[in-house]
Amino acid sequence: MGYKKEIYTDALKMKLDAVKTQKRDYEARLNSLRENSKEFRELEISLNKAGSALTVAAFSGDNARLEELKVVCEQLNAQKDAVLARAGIVKPSVCCSKCDDSGFANGKLCDCVNEIAKKLVFNKLSKSMPLDDCRFDNFDLNLYSDKPNKNGAVPRKRVGAILELCKQFVENFSADSRSLLLTGNTGLGKTHLSLAIVSELSARGYDVVYGSAQNLFSAAEKEHFSFSGETDAQDALLNCDLLVIDDLGTEFYSSFVASLFYNIINSRILNKKPTIINTNLNFDSLEERYNPRITSRFIGNYEMREFIGEDIRLIKNRL
Ligand SMILES: [Zn+2]
Repeated sequence: MGYKKEIYTDALKMKLDAVKTQKRDYEARLNSLRENSKEFRELEISLNKAGSALTVAAFSGDNARLEELKVVCEQLNAQKDAVLARAGIVKPSVCCSKCDDSGFANGKLCDCVNEIAKKLVFNKLSKSMPLDDCRFDNFDLNLYSDKPNKNGAVPRKRVGAILELCKQFVENFSADSRSLLLTGNTGLGKTHLSLAIVSELSARGYDVVYGSAQNLFSAAEKEHFSFSGETDAQDALLNCDLLVIDDLGTEFYSSFVASLFYNIINSRILNKKPTIINTNLNFDSLEERYNPRITSRFIGNYEMREFIGEDIRLIKNRL
């Protein structure tokens, strides 16, 4: 993995800021308890006194006194803990035991910081996600006709089944999930349903990258031809838990994109990383536009579903 230096700097800063904020909050709550609770103040004073006496006893070799004071300290500490618990104050625990939250382990950046860096890169690639508007609960099947089309297929039934498939995809999401290839004309809900999936899985903590084919591929292309050795975009496309490529077929298709696209599809299948692809092209057009090596990977590895019906945006305008 080779991200831009700034990504690691930002990630380390985020890690240390989070630790600092946690400590600061804890201190602030302790101070306010000190101000407001006489009991707590007195306990702290007694603990200090007992602590000093304990030191004196230890140095003087008075073992009987030492044991006695140890018991006193234990009791006082238990009382202090009880007061803290009543006030709901919990000492910040160490989040990462590898680096004790310092961000460094064995002279290198700790994995916890690398994890943050990875998330930063994924978020950067997916920055234009219009997530709020597209959920499962506002996907309206009533906008699809319940009359058979000329091929005898009923749009509401067909799209209803795809909606169920997408919900199941979220429910059972794992590395073993089958990838999805969603085809059909513009305005039939492909993007809506894939964004609903993105939104649900991101909320569950998965690393999801979503973008149009044009944006995702050109980010990787730019990076490649900058010859800087950085691989942020490519790494994200290959390694995120779920990759959603929207609008496949509208991108500028170069020989670089062709090999990149094959590499993404193939590597993700081999590494068990599910992918969702949306396209207005039907399978024949996909075969024409892309190398058969790519389309043959779809068969057997992707669930393919075709959306049918009338453009939802036009119907909504008429309502
Ligand atoms: Zn760590």
